[in-house]
Amino acid sequence: MTACDDKILLLNALVDGELDAANVIAVEQHVKTCPGCAETLADLKAVRGMLASPGVNYVASEPFRRRLRIALEAQARGAGTGRLGSRRPLRWPVWTSGAGLAAAAACAMLVLGVQGLSSPLGDELVADHVRSMLAQHLMDVPTSDRHVVKPWFDGKVSFAPTVIDFAGKGFPLAGGRLDYVENQRAAALVYRRRLHVINVFVWPAKTGDRLVRDGARNGYNLVHWTAGGLNYWAVSDLDRTELDQFRDLYVSALRN
Ligand SMILES: [Zn+2]
Repeated sequence: MTACDDKILLLNALVDGELDAANVIAVEQHVKTCPGCAETLADLKAVRGMLASPGVNYVASEPFRRRLRIALEAQARGAGTGRLGSRRPLRWPVWTSGAGLAAAAACAMLVLGVQGLSSPLGDELVADHVRSMLAQHLMDVPTSDRHVVKPWFDGKVSFAPTVIDFAGKGFPLAGGRLDYVENQRAAALVYRRRLHVINVFVWPAKTGDRLVRDGARNGYNLVHWTAGGLNYWAVSDLDRTELDQFRDLYVSALRN
């Protein structure tokens, strides 16, 4: 028996505690009526339990972690810059047998080992971006009207993000969302480029802010700029050239 295709990522996210309350309720209700998803959820919880049991929590040596990280980065580069769907093989597989379960547990340990490495801002933002698409919580205010998006943030964040629509340049505004970055409230502005989504995270810049280089993580690109005392970080699976083009548009619009 297998889980529904469109629920596998949600079931993983549920077990990992990555879903918001509304999605937790929705997934749990689905599981009550779907034997395949119920069985998969039980397996996922069993793996979680195995990983938490004494003696299993193996800490890999630093040289091993380094080799693993290089291998995973090479794999991610090889996967190209496809859409979210192509990321699926990097997630935990669905396990259906005892052998599969053991293999999955070993695989999960490797994944946990990698996640246990330093978690800089870039990793957090990519995780936020992926989660926003995964949990179908991309937007709190789904509108292309910047005169609606900007005031929506009043009282929700302590700053006024500059909201610009670039529909004329092929980057239409799709909406906004309240998010959290580095334990503080951030405005997330959502743009689209064809079928791709760009999340722009905005929050107040502090003097002495860590300088994090723009980069790529698992096929996602990040670009960063500051303006008017605010940090702007754009994250997308869009290719580097187009994301740079988006940043250039944004930066020059903020100057005007
Ligand atoms: Zn199901």
